[in-house]
Amino acid sequence: MPFCKQACHYCDFHFSTNLRKKQDMVSALQKELLLRKDELKNEEVQTIYFGGGTPSVLEIGEINEIVKTVAENYSVIENPEITLEANPDDLSLKKIKELSDSPINRLSIGVQSFFDQDLKLMNRAHNAKEAHLCLNESKKYFENISIDLIYGIPGMTHKRWQENITKALSYELPHISSYALTVEPKTALKAFIDKGIIPNVDDEMAEEQFNILCALLEKEGFINYEISNFGKEGYFSKNNTAYWKGKKYLGIGPSAHSYDGTKRGWNINNNSKYIRSIKERVLPIEVEVLSKTDRYNEYVMTGLRTIWGISLYKIQTEFGNSYFEYLMQQSDKYIKEEMLSVDRNKISVTKKGKFLCDGIASDLFMIKLN
Ligand code: SF4
Repeated sequence: MPFCKQACHYCDFHFSTNLRKKQDMVSALQKELLLRKDELKNEEVQTIYFGGGTPSVLEIGEINEIVKTVAENYSVIENPEITLEANPDDLSLKKIKELSDSPINRLSIGVQSFFDQDLKLMNRAHNAKEAHLCLNESKKYFENISIDLIYGIPGMTHKRWQENITKALSYELPHISSYALTVEPKTALKAFIDKGIIPNVDDEMAEEQFNILCALLEKEGFINYEISNFGKEGYFSKNNTAYWKGKKYLGIGPSAHSYDGTKRGWNINNNSKYIRSIKERVLPIEVEVLSKTDRYNEYVMTGLRTIWGISLYKIQTEFGNSYFEYLMQQSDKYIKEEMLSVDRNKISVTKKGKFLCDGIASDLFMIKLN
């Protein structure tokens, strides 16, 4: 749902702050669902995920219509996980109640911080009071709730970060996602940092805050099943886990990506062009057939970020011996430095290597073979 009430300073996702085309967008999403219904053939839909942008700008009727279109045109399992990403300022008591009567059964709430100074620095549309209010109310109607928190925010001390985590834990939620603030090119945050208005992010501080997060959440029984995701047993995101495990997915809407096991597709990232094209019954999608090397690199990247690691059996059976040998050779120095661990079945990242996981993964990428 590529609309947001206002632009967060750090965000480089595709979205528009002009909500005028929201209704046209909902119709286009439904049309795209119809146009692509044969792509899944006999596959069953296991999860539905409303991502953004800000899907909580949708009216309840619009959400129901979209889910209905999926249900009527696709084969959906009984009780699929249906997640709505929501921002606190959209979650009024009325909206939460309505959502609990809708097919949505999981909320992923973009809290980011419980402190106004952080929220203002990031230009979030909500304040700390709204974050608390929406969590108190959501808890009454939803059991499966996740919140997002951001660490490494310039000026955020370790003490404030710990307080953030403590506040989050006080809600006894089953899932927390947490990301380091990253400075993406062409964002307001980058411009402010370049002009000296905001101090730059400090990687060392961010790493320390990530370690604080892991320690505190581990103590509370959370499993860090993906670098940025912590869930209680039974509450891992089914949708995202499928994605990390290389399962197929269908992405609907501007800028949405799809994957069918061999091909990756991405929709145009322009709302007007997307709506126009769908109206003309033309899918505004570009498709790339992934080479074996692409698939290996993607698997290494996503696998290493999860507790399931990189399966050596999968590498050997799906990619062959040359890939297996290359992987072992590239992993060697990290194993010696105790950043990676290896057993008979898998390579995974250790506590020491976790924060540097993406960098390590890129060192394991295959560049030449096809
Ligand atoms: S609400 Fe989410 S998608 Fe929208 S601008 Fe903020 S971070 Fe980006």
